[in-house]
Amino acid sequence: MNNPIAYTKPSITELEIRYVTDAVTHGWGASCYEYIERLEHEFARYLGVNYAVATSSCTGALHLGLAALGIGPGDEVIIADSNWIASVAPVVHLGAKPVFVDILEDSWCLDPSAVERSITANTKAIIAVHLYGNLCQMSELKLLADKYKLLLIEDAAEALGSECHGKKAGSMSDFGVFSFHGTKTMTTGEGGIFVTNNNQLYEQVLTLSNHGRKRGQQKQFWPDELGFKYKMSNIQAALGCAQLERIHEIINRKREILHRYKQLLSHHPEISLNPEPEETFNSAWMPTAVFSTESHITREKLQHAFSSENIDARVFFWPLSHLPMFDQPDESSMSWSICNRAINLPSYFDMTEDDIRRVVSVIEKLMLD
Ligand SMILES: *Cc1c(COP(=O)(O)O)cnc(C)c1O
Repeated sequence: MNNPIAYTKPSITELEIRYVTDAVTHGWGASCYEYIERLEHEFARYLGVNYAVATSSCTGALHLGLAALGIGPGDEVIIADSNWIASVAPVVHLGAKPVFVDILEDSWCLDPSAVERSITANTKAIIAVHLYGNLCQMSELKLLADKYKLLLIEDAAEALGSECHGKKAGSMSDFGVFSFHGTKTMTTGEGGIFVTNNNQLYEQVLTLSNHGRKRGQQKQFWPDELGFKYKMSNIQAALGCAQLERIHEIINRKREILHRYKQLLSHHPEISLNPEPEETFNSAWMPTAVFSTESHITREKLQHAFSSENIDARVFFWPLSHLPMFDQPDESSMSWSICNRAINLPSYFDMTEDDIRRVVSVIEKLMLD
């Protein structure tokens, strides 16, 4: 059997080890928030926003933001059908109703015209998830949000560093959230971050993230309201600070890998990989190959071919509407069509040219069959 090829794994250098060792050795007592504050400050600066709150996960950051905005029972929240469950679970936990809409064929993100058709008197927010590094059409979504007085939220967990007209994903809406899970562009093991330019929203999220204890509350063990416990540890933040210092290096490597796949597969018009439209920058978190309907390449054929070569490739997200907790059958959508004929390709920092060629050769062989 060939050596296994993982689909993602983080790049850890001496810098990460040094910061984490420092945090675990000295980051206690009066220093117990130093790396957290540094990560929040540096991340906000990198993204070009005013405020950031480090959290225990992206799911937690989204839960906090939606709760702070008062999303709850009776509210509808629009989200693309092709997504991971994390982007919608907090909506349901808050008692609001998710409304799933179809994706665009080229970006695999929210179709703005489908969004507009789904707006009702109860719609409160649109969650724009930038899928696999690709960007949602933020200017169209912003127009809709303004026209119908809706909140616009970005789940940018998969698009750290992606840009549209020089603006970073996560910085173009009421608030943005990111994940630092071990599979993401930069990692803190588990972890996430909330970002916004809105001072009031920032203060409310900060309070909610710490069991409702307001910043500056002098009274001990005194929560001002019922909140959540979604804080990041100083040790995780130390890892995050090191990764953020290396963010350009990490993203450049991710882009190189995506570019290499595109080059090696360029003679197959039946295959499309993550797009990078003009005026945008794709940070290439997850190279994804979508096969045309005419190619007759299916998810099952792809999974079988990759696993027999000991390569960990992952399926495209199932439509949320089809998952057992939602169960809204509709098999005509783009979300349903694409997930049947797509695969996520390995793309970790240290993967070699030989590894990339091995991945490509699996696809080449399938195309011949
Ligand atoms: C990974 C991911 C999440 C969940 O992140 P956690 O940190 O595991 O909570 C949420 N949204 C998107 C788009 C993701 O890719």
